[in-house]
Amino acid sequence: MGELALDSPLQYIKGVGPRRAEALSSHGLSTVRDMLFYFPRKYLDRTSVLPINEVKISQAVTVIGTVKAHGLLYGRRKRYEAIVGDDSGDITLVFFEGAQYWKNYFKKGMVLAASGLVNYYHVKQLVHPDLERLETDSDKMIHAGRIIPVYPQTAELTKVGLSSKTIRGLTTFIFDNLHETVSDYLPKSVCDEYGFPVIQNALTKMHYPEARDEIETCRRRLAFDELLSFQYLINQRKDQKTKVEKRHRFKEPGEVLKKFKAQLAFSFTPGQVKSINDIFKDLQLPHPMSRLLQGDVGCGKTVVAMAAAVFAAENKLQTAFMAPTEILAEQHYRNWREQLSSLNIQAALITSATKGKEKSEIISKSLSGDIDLLIGTHALIYDYIEFAKLGLVIIDEQHRFGVEQRGKLYAKGDNPDLLVMTATPIPRTLALTLYGDLEISTIDTMPPGRKPIKSVWRESLTRDKVYEFVRDEVKKGGQAYIIYPLIEKSDKIELQNVQDSYQELTAGVFASCRTAMIHGRIKAAEKEKILNQFRNTKIDILFATTVIEVGIDNPSATIMVIEHAERFGLAQLHQLRGRVGRGPRESLVVAVAYTPISEIAKKRLDYFVSTTDGFKIAEADLELRGPGEFFGTRQSGLPEFKVANIARDQKLIEDSRNLINKLQSADGQLDSDFKKVKNYLAELSKSKLEKMAGG
Ligand code: ADP
Ligand code: MG
Repeated sequence: MGELALDSPLQYIKGVGPRRAEALSSHGLSTVRDMLFYFPRKYLDRTSVLPINEVKISQAVTVIGTVKAHGLLYGRRKRYEAIVGDDSGDITLVFFEGAQYWKNYFKKGMVLAASGLVNYYHVKQLVHPDLERLETDSDKMIHAGRIIPVYPQTAELTKVGLSSKTIRGLTTFIFDNLHETVSDYLPKSVCDEYGFPVIQNALTKMHYPEARDEIETCRRRLAFDELLSFQYLINQRKDQKTKVEKRHRFKEPGEVLKKFKAQLAFSFTPGQVKSINDIFKDLQLPHPMSRLLQGDVGCGKTVVAMAAAVFAAENKLQTAFMAPTEILAEQHYRNWREQLSSLNIQAALITSATKGKEKSEIISKSLSGDIDLLIGTHALIYDYIEFAKLGLVIIDEQHRFGVEQRGKLYAKGDNPDLLVMTATPIPRTLALTLYGDLEISTIDTMPPGRKPIKSVWRESLTRDKVYEFVRDEVKKGGQAYIIYPLIEKSDKIELQNVQDSYQELTAGVFASCRTAMIHGRIKAAEKEKILNQFRNTKIDILFATTVIEVGIDNPSATIMVIEHAERFGLAQLHQLRGRVGRGPRESLVVAVAYTPISEIAKKRLDYFVSTTDGFKIAEADLELRGPGEFFGTRQSGLPEFKVANIARDQKLIEDSRNLINKLQSADGQLDSDFKKVKNYLAELSKSKLEKMAGG
């Protein structure tokens, strides 16, 4: 094959062929250009490799050595180990999971690079290190002092022989034979201003840097590109939204709302008042509201949403209120049904457990407009649910839903107003970027009279003491949650599970207590019954999985034990913790961590017990986990940046926003360089905007 162009299909490159081309294409890689934007996951660099005898405990290192022995070991914990040695010494690689996989992976005599944090347990070890198998080409590169790219691996790629090494062969071939360059849409003046390389250089050096510090320079350039096009997209979307006129209109708040407020057992906190004002002002505008209500767990978002629903009902408009779990939807319904009904507002509940006559009645009443507020789970988005006049869509714990789900619900109205809520607050600059097409209200005040939650973390060795403490507290009239990561025993991972522990502890230390168990496989009606008993203090200790993570409200539960806390992310720990501390009594959370506890998990746990401020937790979580994990799945609708890191690239985010503002404010008199940028961004955003339409 001769010279390569950017649009040349990968399939015809030497060594690719149809099978590999298909695997590549399933990763969005079809052409040479795509491949240029397929960046290494990390780099191996001779300068960062240490002789094994020089590594120190707690240091992040890469070592290169030969596998001397490997095998499954039993002991305090079952584990797979491999001993790797170089001229200077040996180190042990430890894996607590995937024994079968590792047994096949390791071959005596194989050479590999292992990266990770050095631990000490009888000997120096790397627990779950990152491994890169070294073969002749990379060996040579490494010994020649080159920095070599390590590409992301997936099962699909590996299956067709596309190892990091093969991909390295492919990119090397491409750079050697490419006779075309990617033209840069950014004018030289902008590149110079920010110290960015031109795009072709950035791309080449992202793959094959000559020096370590070039990688960061190139990454910044490419991150800027990503952030810029994202910012442009968000601005376009916001523009689009404000141009739409809604059919329905809201009048000034009236008598019904007054009564609603008068009936509440409490008065609003300042944060709630401000949010309600924001929302009510939006609702009275001619274009649909798109507002995010954020506030820490327990700050009282629900009542704000209910006020909006009452306002809608007062204006003869229907509200759809979607929550991520049955438990939560039911709780909202149960808590509000009577109060609303006394105002002549009809609420109904629909979940996948709603069946038969009840279901068909809800369907017909929603269609006829006889239901004012329909609360539900995903069941709300089924086609058979229709509304006579849907004016307001509320989505609770919005990050739990995919874009498509939110969009589907939204599409059931004719440009309805939209209120989304989240207990995972994010820093303001970030919110402006990520949720740039939403207005934001933040509840930053907690309802009065809350006692602070005390949090501690303990190693699992002291677990029995923790249980005895819980038992003693229960004797004094307390109620407790014990949280587990798994429902039942698993072959793959050795973790405590709720079923076995429930059996064992109920027969043992908690024999004198009233216990119950709840998890995702228990039927909705049964779950509801158990939660009711728990709320009515008929149950002392509730064994649960994270099904109780979201929104469950039992003010008299004051103790929580989280098993395998080392397994949970910070935000999730914080969400779980939000189940206690809801009443006037002081609460305690004990996070129990099982050895070995990685450094990062220790950091997380230390941070978790150091503050109960949800905003600080969110920021730290973002920093510790990186945005990809923080925002969860691809479908959450938040951007997945390839190289930009929204936690660390704040400055780039600001720079890109400034450039976009410049492009948009100077409209009409942009010089040709900037017109080019704008056209480029407009073209890029076109198809994406279509996909995002609605919701
Ligand atoms: P979240 O913001 O996590 O969704 P909720 O809406 O579930 O929080 O509210 C948590 C608890 O606080 C509920 O029991 C609710 O009745 C109560 N609450 C809400 N607002 C106030 C307030 N202004 N004063 C006192 N209690 C309140
Ligand atoms: Mg809530």
